Amino acid sequence: MWIDTHCHLDAPEFGTDHALGLQAREQARALGVGLCVYPAVHAADFASVRELAHRTGDAYALGIHPLFVPRAGPEDLQALAAALERHAGDPRLVAVGEIGLDFFLPELCTPGMRERQWQCYREQLRLAQCHGLPVILHVRRSADWLLKGLREAAARGRPVAGGIAHAFNGSVQQAQAFLSLGFKLGFGGAATFDAARQLRQLFGNLPPDALVLETDAPDIPPQWRHVNAAQRAAGRPQGLNSPAELPRIGAELAGLRGLSSAALAGLTTANALSALPRLAALLPSPAAAFVPADQADPAAAGPPPVGTARHMEAS
Ligand SMILES: [Zn+2]
Repeated sequence: MWIDTHCHLDAPEFGTDHALGLQAREQARALGVGLCVYPAVHAADFASVRELAHRTGDAYALGIHPLFVPRAGPEDLQALAAALERHAGDPRLVAVGEIGLDFFLPELCTPGMRERQWQCYREQLRLAQCHGLPVILHVRRSADWLLKGLREAAARGRPVAGGIAHAFNGSVQQAQAFLSLGFKLGFGGAATFDAARQLRQLFGNLPPDALVLETDAPDIPPQWRHVNAAQRAAGRPQGLNSPAELPRIGAELAGLRGLSSAALAGLTTANALSALPRLAALLPSPAAAFVPADQADPAAAGPPPVGTARHMEAS
């Protein structure tokens, strides 16, 4: 069984009524993806990620993504605090996320925006501490600052209960620092590209208990779904990434560690349960059989939905 620890099934690319998302979720289930985690990106989608998780038998996280910080005000943090309080007993609420810092996009790197991101991140860490929930972190040129926030939070009170540094693409030292704070590192489509040598090497060499898998769907398509700028200019739509790609991503990445797909699935599932402990109570029954990725052909489950990427650069 695979766990997609990060997918935005409520994104508009999956249809206003989530029809394409629900279809993709069923395709993923048929290929052995037993659980998905849907992180929110802003207050307006708190209700939809929650409803989707209940509808598909999956999990969700609530938080304000750094890309949405420019549009977020104090009322959004209040809405987050209220939603965490209201749904504290919901077993499908497994983390605070997606939160973090983005020091890549120029509009987020002005001194004022860096400060707003930092304050929003710190406040969301405080809420996670308060509820004893892990966090799902957006890391983009910001690993050292994220680590600083986690250490400061620990100095203020009980440490943040670990979580996942999603779409990780940092140094070995930064990886080790996250691991020492009880985090797992999320890998997905980006590591399927031949050109991503450093990332593939990192995936191959990290300790086995460091790794979780994710699609970040509809963003970060794997190499076989990627449509380059020239192809887009020629009218070919950007292929839509979906949780149904996870088994093939897993099969590709298993090779980097000399593992079978089944071994990587088992390893990363155990790690996901360790990073997000509430997932354990949501595991599907053994009847949801595991299909080895080398026998699983997403094409056999019908054509994938297509659309345009919303925050392709957002990870
Ligand atoms: Zn994301």
